[in-house]
Amino acid sequence: MKVLIAGASVAGPSLAFWLARYGAEVTVLEQAAELRKGGQLVDVRGSARGVLARAGLAETVAAACTASDGLSFVDSGGRRLATLSVADFGGDGPVTDTEILRGRLSEIFHEETRDSAEYLFGDRIAGLADGPGGVRVTFEKAAARTYDVVIGADGLHSGVRKLAFGPDAPPLRHLGAYLSFWTAENHLGLRDWTEAYSEPGRTMGMRTIHGNSAVMAFMSFTSAEFRYDYRELESLKAVLRARAAGMGWECDRLIEQIDQAPDFYFDSCSQVRLPRWSVGNVGLVGDAAYCASPLSGHGTTIALVGAYVLAGELAKAGADHQAGLAAYERTLKPWIDEIQEFGAGNGKAMTPETALGVWLRNNVSRLRRFLPRGLFAGEIRMSNRFVLPDYSRYESAQTH
Ligand SMILES: Cc1cc2nc3c(=O)[nH]c(=O)nc-3n(C[C@H](O)[C@H](O)[C@H](O)COP(=O)(O)OP(=O)(O)OC[C@H]3O[C@@H](n4cnc5c(N)ncnc54)[C@H](O)[C@@H]3O)c2cc1C
Repeated sequence: MKVLIAGASVAGPSLAFWLARYGAEVTVLEQAAELRKGGQLVDVRGSARGVLARAGLAETVAAACTASDGLSFVDSGGRRLATLSVADFGGDGPVTDTEILRGRLSEIFHEETRDSAEYLFGDRIAGLADGPGGVRVTFEKAAARTYDVVIGADGLHSGVRKLAFGPDAPPLRHLGAYLSFWTAENHLGLRDWTEAYSEPGRTMGMRTIHGNSAVMAFMSFTSAEFRYDYRELESLKAVLRARAAGMGWECDRLIEQIDQAPDFYFDSCSQVRLPRWSVGNVGLVGDAAYCASPLSGHGTTIALVGAYVLAGELAKAGADHQAGLAAYERTLKPWIDEIQEFGAGNGKAMTPETALGVWLRNNVSRLRRFLPRGLFAGEIRMSNRFVLPDYSRYESAQTH
């Protein structure tokens, strides 16, 4: 089976990892000139930890995780109003013990697959023609090629999704907020910790990274949808500066560092909800197929599990690739639907819109550790609910 995967972040390289195990010939195409760095700490939760264990990468990922002991909401003077510690929730609560920089996780899967898959950087798919002999792919730069299956692992603004669905592609579902991240100095000397400060409709925070030598600063703000080009970094920085104007706490100091940051990231909190995850022999995985938004805290988790199931179902279906794509969707969709519902409702906690909302969020957080864990166990149950199918019988002899 010859497979082209567009996108080399989390879903793409992890899909390449499993497909190579099942003996497929894989090409990964990434529009950026090299593997993209940057991104906030992302959580690997529930069933995705099982995927890492099956991949034999649990220890590698654990060693690359950023130590994180918890989170405090602070007032404008920096006084801690509420604290949620990882230990209070057994490592698997609103703050977890498996937090890794998105770029580092991407790097781990890239390192694992660069000998078994071909990587093409700095190019994009220009056209797809699905016919009886396979999917004919034209590229913006490289010469055309034919693949059995093409998978879009190219994120929220997926180009493969637009090509596959054409004018029928449903619009993104905006969740009413925007989110940005950039690396900054740890000028408060925080240790393995996150502090966040909220005013109605806007939250800024800092989360220690790189052994406490720096922080990942973040800002979210609520807003109706507005048009922007997410590749136009300078105008996005101007939007962020305007939204942060007049905020208390350490916000001025953090925002003035966005120009020096090597990894400024900005995107809308939106979801992808599609009538189906494939059209013919063209399929989608990760954010491209079912982005739940960073507000769900599960984007990376469902990308890792999705790649595992997609590769397994394609291997199981043999030459009937469309049956494999359909089985992947059937197997995974009920769980993804649940996570998307959760993500759609979660934005208010991160960025309450009123002063009363900020007060309530801080006080519920303050009391949360004193309440029975069972009251909040729903999210943990949801993260673990998907039972990983076993595809080990399809692994090719060369991988052992
Ligand atoms: C730079 C960056 C920073 C991020 N930071 C955060 C964060 O801080 N917090 C968070 O929760 N989530 C973040 N995300 C999103 C997070 O990675 C995803 O929610 C999750 O891990 C699922 O990943 P994915 O591989 O499906 O999609 P993504 O991580 O979005 O990756 C998509 C990849 O496809 C590439 N691509 C896009 N279009 C094309 C195309 N036409 N052809 C070829 N390649 C293409 C992109 O360059 C990117 O490498 C970030 C994503 C990126 C790319």
